[in-house]
Order: sequence, then structure tokens, then C-alpha cells
Amino acid sequence: MLFSELAQAFDQLEQISSRIALRDTLAALYKKLSPKEAAITSYFIVGRLAPKFINAEFNISKKTIEKIIQELFSIDRREVRELLLKYNDYGGIFANLSKNTNNTSLQIEDLYERLWDIALISGAGSQTQKFEKLYRLLASASAAEGKYIIRIILGRTRLGVSERTIIESLAYTRDPKDKKAIEKSLGYTSDVGYVAFLYVSAGLEGLKKAVFTPGVPIAPKLVEREVSIEKIFKRIPNPYEEPKYDGLRCQAHIFKANDSQNLSDRVWAKFVQDHTSSAEGSQQGLVVKLFSRNLEDMTAMFPEIKEGYLAVGKELFKKYHEARAFVFDGEIVGYNENTGEFLPFQETMTRKRKYNVEEAAAQTPVKIFTFDVLFFIDSPLLDFKLEQRKEKLSEIKGVHEDILPTPLHKPKDAKEAEKLFLEYVSEGLEGVIFKDPQTLYTPGLRNFDWIKFKRAMKHELADTIDVVVVGYYYGTGRLAKLGIGALLGAVYDKENDRYVTITKIGTGITEDQWKMLKNLADQYKIDRQLPNVEIPKELRPDVFLEPGLVIEIEADEITKSPVHTAGYALRFPRFKRVRDKAPTDSTSLQEILEMVKEKTSAGN
Ligand code: ATP
Repeated sequence: MLFSELAQAFDQLEQISSRIALRDTLAALYKKLSPKEAAITSYFIVGRLAPKFINAEFNISKKTIEKIIQELFSIDRREVRELLLKYNDYGGIFANLSKNTNNTSLQIEDLYERLWDIALISGAGSQTQKFEKLYRLLASASAAEGKYIIRIILGRTRLGVSERTIIESLAYTRDPKDKKAIEKSLGYTSDVGYVAFLYVSAGLEGLKKAVFTPGVPIAPKLVEREVSIEKIFKRIPNPYEEPKYDGLRCQAHIFKANDSQNLSDRVWAKFVQDHTSSAEGSQQGLVVKLFSRNLEDMTAMFPEIKEGYLAVGKELFKKYHEARAFVFDGEIVGYNENTGEFLPFQETMTRKRKYNVEEAAAQTPVKIFTFDVLFFIDSPLLDFKLEQRKEKLSEIKGVHEDILPTPLHKPKDAKEAEKLFLEYVSEGLEGVIFKDPQTLYTPGLRNFDWIKFKRAMKHELADTIDVVVVGYYYGTGRLAKLGIGALLGAVYDKENDRYVTITKIGTGITEDQWKMLKNLADQYKIDRQLPNVEIPKELRPDVFLEPGLVIEIEADEITKSPVHTAGYALRFPRFKRVRDKAPTDSTSLQEILEMVKEKTSAGN
């Protein structure tokens, strides 16, 4: 398909205000695409060239785009700024200024190559080269093409289409009942483009190729919450109990460089030669890759953890000659070298950076508590019971000082479990996690196989809630000058792939925090209410935001609400911190309903 046709289809999607229509229109689009085009289109929609675990960033600033627009249309910076205030979207500005209705002959695949060509430029002088290549591309593009090229480059197509919407739309091209299977494949591959490619090629049969592959992260298994240890014992009669560290989730892959694993059917593979032999992660024939909770490659950020797992890998590969890979799941935590105490999340978080890694490592050393084994020797362990997976964990014991197995307890009853919990809390930990030894590792799923238990303060919910900011209000009085005075928070209704509002937060935020929040929020500004966001008329914000910014909220309780579209509201909401989370990973409406149910049954 021509890229101009795709741009036209995107324009059509942009006009839609109903979620169902959006899904159906997207499904109709997918029906017209070849498997390769379906893969590329899926990345384009989420403003990328490849899945998140592949570094395929354009590294082109808004300033560069501004300069290109200035030169292309012979206007000055002030004029671009004025237009920005009006459209708040460089793609929209381009479409408005361009009089060019002549589409290029670029196919979707051609554009994909051209964009990779720009993304891959690195080193000295790269900004100038990127500028020139993009300038040439935009100079020949029609108004509609340019609009989406710019949006893809800046990482936001503004269509209100998430990966979940893509999955649902794909299912609607064949059989809506396939949605679960497609979702599962996404959990195993973390690659919406690949999943689209497989499903468009051959439906469910095609998805059989979506298997766990070393070097490619799987979606981490998630944790549910419960209000009392007694209730946890009712759900899991003989649980494991582990300390809950408040750090960064990390999935570590150790595999042979140039492993025969076949990534060649991914459309991005030919542009990313070094993923399985990465100089940065490899040593003596072994590659170590570290992936975050959000499936990003964070290997370069944690040199000591990489070294540690490399040592583990060497031991294991020596022992098991025929081995192909080892994959572990764990939590990275910072610690104080003098006292040995663990550091709060905010300090560990300072290690999540691309620059000055060495300095940060010296200042905030980290260790990793490994709690699971997902691939061992030559096969995935996902279909093994936790009990069996834990046995393999003993193999990492004592190999490297920074790679530790998570302590594991088997309390005989709730009383013993509570005692242990209190001990961990007195040591400064957040709480504990109970796990059912008989359950399998289900990628990306949040269920009661793993349950966290934290201590609730008086008058507070047992746990915080992560809400997606879907709009903000200008504010009055003192805050008026900041241009922001209250946030509108929503939770994700995963059954219906939509966001419903649950809270308006305006108090307890300092002026500096407001400035920071406005900065972050403005990146998601959009000029309309998206089809998958349900905002009641009474709460219409001054600025609409595309779901993207996730914040953690503390509250006293959840009460029924006649106004909020979630049907519930948070009582006395207080802002805690910004979360590095995808909006679809925020607290779900289903979790809220569960929390309300628990409270009601606890009260009876
Ligand atoms: P999410 O469940 O969406 O990650 P969150 O970031 O708010 O939500 P919590 O629900 O509070 O995290 O706790 C779950 C997280 O706790 C896990 O994702 C993991 O990063 C961390 N964690 C710490 N210790 C453990 C452990 N022993 N077992 C499993 N997870 C642990």
C-alpha cells in the first residue's frame, strides 16, 4: 500500500469519536495490508519503528522539526511558535502550511526504510545529517504524508490507538474470539508488529511462531493485592512468602552471541544486526541483556548487574555445555555501601539514566534480588510450577555478590506469615509477596497467583493507585500563573479498552511539582477528547491529554460517585509521584471494583 493511502486512513481514524468505530475502521485497514505492512503500520501507530526493547529512537528534537518547518515554508521562529500555540502539533502545522497535494510514490515499506535510514545515523555530525535527510523527505511529501511522518518521528500519532486497540482490531479482521490468543502472543514476544505480522499472515496458525526467544523480553508477570493475610491464606493455602523490594523490575537474559534463534522474520531485524551479538552486552561469546518492567533495554544502565549475570552465565554454560540460554526475573535495589541498608525507590531510580552511568553507579550501587527463572538450559520454564522454577534458582547462589536469590519462606499459617511480614517492615521494606508454588509463569497477567501485602496506615487504602492523567484545569488564584491547578485522573477499563475518570486532584502539590507535572502533561496535549477516554461533561478539563502520564495517588478510600465515569471516586486523593508506566498498566477499573468488593465484604 502507498504511504499516502495509510496517511489518509490515519486521517479517517483521527475523525472518529466512538471506540467501536475506531476498532472497526482499523480492522478494515488491516484487512487491506500485507503482513509486512501490518507490522510496520502497527509500529507507526504507536510512533515507533520497532518494539520497545530495540533501540530505534530517532533522536530528533522538536527544535530540529521547527527548523525544518521554518525553512520549508519560509517563516520565522515566532510564526512557528504562534502556530504551535494554535495546533500544539508539529504534524498539524505542516499539514496546514503545506499546499502540496501531490502524494509521493512511497510505499509503506519504502518509508519504513527511509525512516530507519534516518534513525540509524549516529556519531559526530549526526544531527546535521538527520536534518538533511528528513528535510529532503518532507520537502517531497504531500501535506497528509508530512503530517504523519513528523508525528511518527516525534513518537506520537495522536490517534488514540493503543497496543490493546491494535490487538482487538486485528482480531476483528478474522474472529473477535482470537483476541485472547493474540494478547497471549504479545505477552510472549513484546512485539505488536511481529504479532500483527503473524496474525495477518495466517491467523491463529501464524501465532504459533510467537514463542519465548532468548534476547526478546516477555511481559513480566504481575501481582494482585489483598487486604489481609487471612484472606491470602484462603486463596493460597500453602504460600511462599518473599520480601517485597521497592526497586526496579529486571528481566535478565544470558545467551550465546549469534544464537541460532531466528529473529529474521521480524521486519526490523535487518536494520538491527547487533541485537544478539551486541558489543555492549557481550563478552566471551555470551550476551547479557537486561529489560525493564516496561520492556526497554536497560543493559547499559547497570554495568554491575550485567557483569554479575555474565559471571553467572559463565558458570552455568560451563556446567551445561549444551545450554542455549538462561533468563531470570528479579528486582534491582540500591543499597548503602557503609550500612548495607537498602535505599528507597527514588534513589534506586536515579540509576535509570543513559548518561553518566559510571558516576551514578559509584554513588548508588545496586544489587539484584532474583526471584524467578524463566528459561533454563534449552527451554522455557513458563509451564513449570513455581516450585520447580525455584529449585533452579539455587544455581545462582554464591556466584556473584550482586546477584542474590530472594529469600524464600514457607510460613505454616497466617500468624507466622504476619510475624515475618512485620519483621520485614521493621527492616524498612514495603511489605511481602505471597506466591502460589503450584502456579505457572503467565506473562503479563495480573492474578492471585502472586499477591502483595503492604501495611495500610490508618484511614488509608491498603495500597496506592496509579491513575492516568487525561486532562488538567488551569487553576485559579495563586496557581493561575502556572497555568495548571488540578488534574483529572482516570483508570483503565481493560475489558473495554477505555479510560474512565475516578479523581480530580488539586491539593497537596507544591509549586515545583506543578511545574514538573505541567511539563510532563503538555507532552500529551491533544485538541479533542479521544474515543477511548470517557470524561463526564461536568468535569470537562481545560486541556485534554492523550493517555500517557501515569501518577501514583494515595487516598483514604474509594466511594461511589454519580459523576465520575468509573462510577467511583477517590476520597482525599494525594499526589505521591510520577510513575514510569504505560497507561494500560495503570490501576484497572477491574482492580478498583475488586478493592471495593473487598472493603464491603471486610465491613460485613
Ligand atoms: P505493577 O504490578 O503494575 O508492577 P507496581 O509497580 O505498583 O505495579 P507493585 O504492584 O507495588 O508494583 O508490586 C509489584 C512489583 O513488585 C513487581 O512488579 C516487582 O517489580 C516488585 N517486586 C519486589 N519484590 C518482589 C518479589 N519478591 N517478587 C515479585 N515481585 C517483586
